[in-house]
Amino acid sequence: MLTLHHDHWPNVPTSLSVPQTSLYENLQVSARRYPENQAILYYGNSLTYRELDEQVTALAGYLQNKLGVAKGEKVLLFMQNSPQFVISFYAILRANAVVVPINPMLTANELSFYIKDAEIHTALAGQELYEKVQPLLGTTSLENVVIAAYSDYAAEDFKGNVPPEVDAKRAVLTETGHHLWMNAIEANLQPGEHTTSAKDLAVLPYTSGTTGLPKGCMHTNYSVQANTVGAFHWSSVSPNSVHLMTLPLFHVTGMVHSMHMPIYSGGTMVIMTRWNRETAVELIKQNQCTHWCAIATMIVDFVSNSKLKKEDIASLTYLSGGGAALPEAVGEKLYQLTGLRFIEGYGLSETIAQTHFNPGHRPKMQCLGVPSFDVDARIIEPASLKELGVGEIGEIIVNGPQVMVGYYNRDDENRDSFIELGGKTFFRTGDIGRYDEEGYFFIVDRVKRMINASGFKVWPTEVESYLYKNPAIQQACVVGVPDPRRGESVKAFVILNEDYVGKVTEEEIIEWAKEHMAAYKYPREVEFKQQFPMTSSGKILWRQLQDEERQKAGQT
Ligand code: AMP
Repeated sequence: MLTLHHDHWPNVPTSLSVPQTSLYENLQVSARRYPENQAILYYGNSLTYRELDEQVTALAGYLQNKLGVAKGEKVLLFMQNSPQFVISFYAILRANAVVVPINPMLTANELSFYIKDAEIHTALAGQELYEKVQPLLGTTSLENVVIAAYSDYAAEDFKGNVPPEVDAKRAVLTETGHHLWMNAIEANLQPGEHTTSAKDLAVLPYTSGTTGLPKGCMHTNYSVQANTVGAFHWSSVSPNSVHLMTLPLFHVTGMVHSMHMPIYSGGTMVIMTRWNRETAVELIKQNQCTHWCAIATMIVDFVSNSKLKKEDIASLTYLSGGGAALPEAVGEKLYQLTGLRFIEGYGLSETIAQTHFNPGHRPKMQCLGVPSFDVDARIIEPASLKELGVGEIGEIIVNGPQVMVGYYNRDDENRDSFIELGGKTFFRTGDIGRYDEEGYFFIVDRVKRMINASGFKVWPTEVESYLYKNPAIQQACVVGVPDPRRGESVKAFVILNEDYVGKVTEEEIIEWAKEHMAAYKYPREVEFKQQFPMTSSGKILWRQLQDEERQKAGQT
């Protein structure tokens, strides 16, 4: 049993009392306490907490009264970072429903899987994504879509780099027969009572977990509150904090650290729809941003900007992130520029962001940190499930209030993902790691089939399931290969159907995949094979293929 961060955080309790309230109530409280505080700054425009709560309430009224959204119903949120994403998220919660946030990079074909899996009837979508949603209306369970133009919330005279999807009003907005965002807000319909309790589901983020196709992680209002309040205590925030929001909000780290936590504390969210390092500097300077939660690739890009001046980003007091390791040299460069140490954390969709966090005053580099509040984290030998000790390498398992209830409608995977140890239930992360004598955890490898490409998680089974739709492909095996820029990159080994041998090239398969999958997912490399290494039970030995690639790249 570990008693970890206790020694390193003398003034902070090791256990938090997580409020037994709904997430929406955090916004209600901040709107009462700080009605005129800026909640959102968006390319030259702003929204106070009073205005944010008013719009959330109006949209919740529309969802219930016009679109018939019922308590516990799952509603798809398919948008880029924008004021509308935040308003939609809290409106769905206010309407006692459940948010299903989906990566806006997905194709229509990919999206249909999620609509079916989560039995979606209503979606809120960014206008630039409408083309992907439209074919699914009526052909799947999807009946209603509310379309939002980000330009409605940005100032026309904003001086700076505005991404095209924020700049343009598109023709689709004038089409009839769709629910348009501004009409929904202006209808100003009153929602019914907010009856959500802490144990009700709040959000269903998707991941593939250790293996297989994507599945929704069932998070209650309580599990999200646990990490919202936990993040609040780790990150030295106040109602005066100004948070630069660059991480995608559909993913758990951005959702908790750049949205729920600022709303809980009454702080300001400076929203960026698309990452751009020059705009990031401009926004930090203009708005005196104090907090920035980012992913390694953004930091790498940010510090390689030769025009970056220390004084432009002097307002920053707290830099954090997770999802992938930050190279040590980049952390050093960041320190030289800001005087701040990057505070790395670790967690998963199944734990709605952090289970580990580095203590602010004593962070270690390329380290997951120590277990967060109320988290019991251990290392086990994956085959025997025997608990291991200091320095020994094995699978990281976690118990804590942020752990999901389970995967939605996946009894088999739920049975395999949890184990009992010493009277407690632990979630198996599928990550291989160790902890040092001070209780700091480090990641070494993964047992699970996941590729971490610049922080984007690619699930090989999903990529394979799309590749199998190509008539030329008889068998496919997707692995992660070392990539100096993206950390890992996606490679597909393919056995061609007899009729296609010699008639199709690797490049053609890549081109085909590019059209059928989101940009971060499609294989950058394809290699034809005549056979795969197999187990005696007929499973492809993907790890053997992956290890061969690592050896080729000089990694063992
Ligand atoms: P996701 O469910 O998309 O949040 O992905 C979770 C996975 O991201 C974990 O299981 C790890 O493999 C990886 N991950 C999260 N944080 C870190 C970190 N600080 N360093 C390295 N990998 C990480």
